[in-house]
Formats: sequence, structure tokens, C-alpha cells
Amino acid sequence: MSSIDLSSVNAIVTRDLVKERINTEKKYLLTGYSKMILEMEEPFIINDEWSREIPLQESLDILYDFFNSIDSNLANQFNNIIHGTCDNIPLIKFNYVEGDKVLNSVVTKYGVIINYSNNPDDIFTIAHEVLHFMNLHLFYDDNDYITETRSRYIFGEANSILGELLLKDYLITNHLITTNDFKKRYKVRINNAKKCAKSFIIEKLLMEVRQSGMDITYEHLLDKLATLDTESIDYQVFEEELNTFDYMNKIIKHNHCNSNIAKKYIYGLVIANKIYESDNRHQEFINFNNAICNTNNTVDDIYTDLRLRFPHI
Ligand SMILES: [Zn+2]
Repeated sequence: MSSIDLSSVNAIVTRDLVKERINTEKKYLLTGYSKMILEMEEPFIINDEWSREIPLQESLDILYDFFNSIDSNLANQFNNIIHGTCDNIPLIKFNYVEGDKVLNSVVTKYGVIINYSNNPDDIFTIAHEVLHFMNLHLFYDDNDYITETRSRYIFGEANSILGELLLKDYLITNHLITTNDFKKRYKVRINNAKKCAKSFIIEKLLMEVRQSGMDITYEHLLDKLATLDTESIDYQVFEEELNTFDYMNKIIKHNHCNSNIAKKYIYGLVIANKIYESDNRHQEFINFNNAICNTNNTVDDIYTDLRLRFPHI
């Protein structure tokens, strides 16, 4: 067994437990969503190469037409964001970095830098980031930090991922990219979401050990696991963790439980897929985007409305 310092994990989990902001119902939802994600199949890639190159201007022209095919308002917003600035700095900067692409996009103080490398992946990244700007309402919190509405934090990823799924249909129908191109993109997204789901489940177990008044030790973790009404997937994930300590090492490294960021990707992928399955997906997309744009809507407002329209969410 690896020599991880579980007493550090214990101290961090104990401290972060009181900061937990999600209620029991949502925790239950997230557990269900995490399981769904862990059960998702990875897309099968038939060819590792992109089918074509897409120069930046062509991507922008295609995206304008795509948004216009859904709603002219979205197309106008797209143009405004692409040409928009903050303190004279473009909201979206395109910065092609030769060689291996480490990150598709990097968020900065002013906006986002997209590492554009002329392939079909980039057009999805632009759509994803532009959609974030469409429902981004930044404001300053009590400590003068720029922050965002809670509902946007929770649902922003779902909206951008849903946009990617609609874009995929548009691009494939118009023979602009191949299905394999999209699968290459989507495989990365699914694998990232799986990592998030795994982190969430492990963190949940750690917190449950502490909530029962026990310290985090191997014995207590295994005891807790045995008493939980879990399905095989939890065991599998947890066994993996006990072999590698990937997530617990991360907790120590960052000195906090970090599945908070994971949560938005867990909500994101599942909710996007559920809305995408609807017959009226374009209209539902517009409704969802508007709901997030409305700063009066709380997370619960949006959730309640989603559940009325999609009882399986
Ligand atoms: Zn995003």
C-alpha cells in the first residue's frame, strides 16, 4: 500500500465539510449522475486523424450560420461576443500555439484565449466559450472579487455542452465534419467527466466517514463502504482509488476537497444529454439559455423548471 498521509486528508475533509453548500437532495442527484457518467461508453474512434482543416474565418462564418439556424438573436450575440472587448482587450483571443496542444482554451482575467489550430476541434471550442459569454453575468462579491451567479456556475457547462451537441448535428448534416471528428472531441469530454464523477464519489465517501464521527483510516473507509447501499460501480471506483490515491493525493496537494469544480461538469454532461434527447431540442436550448441568463433565477428555480419539462432529469 502507498504511504499516503490519511491524517492530512482527515483534517482537510473535516474543515471542508462545513463549507458544503449542496443539500442532501442534490448530493443524491449528483451521485446518480456520477454513476450515469461512469457507465457511459467511450466513443469508438475509427481514425485518429481529423478529416480536414478549418481556417479560423471559416469556423466563424460557419458558427454564425449555425446560431442563425436556431435563432437570429443568438447569431447577433455571437457576433457581438466575437468582436467584443473588455478594457480594450478582446473577449476572445485566438492564439495559435504550434506543436502539441496542451489546452484548447485558457480563461484569463479579461476573457478567454482559444488555442486555434485549424481543426474541427476548434470550432466546438469557440462555440463552447461563446456560449459561456452569452450567459455570463459577472459581478463583484463582498470582497471585491469578480464572481458569477450560482445558477450560471451550476448550469453554464450544461448549456455550452448542449450547444456543442446541436453544433455536431449541424456540421455533420452539412458535411462540414465527419462523425469521427465529433467522436474524437467527445471522447475527451466523456473521459474528463468520468474523472470528475470519480472524484465526486470518493469525496462523498470521505465526507460520509467524517459525518459518522469516524476518522479517515483505511479500516473506517472500508467499513463505510461495506455499510453503504452502493452499487458495484462505487466499489470499483473506490478500489481503484485505494490502489493509486490519485484523488486523495490531489486533496493534499491543493489543500482542499476539489470536487466543487467537478460538479459543474457532472451536471453539465448529464443535463446537456437529457435536453438534447428532447424532440424540441432547439427551442429547449433557447429556453435553457434564457433561464440561465435571467439573474433572478436561482439554481432551484431552474432545476424545478427543468424537472417539470424533463421528468427523467
Ligand atoms: Zn466550459
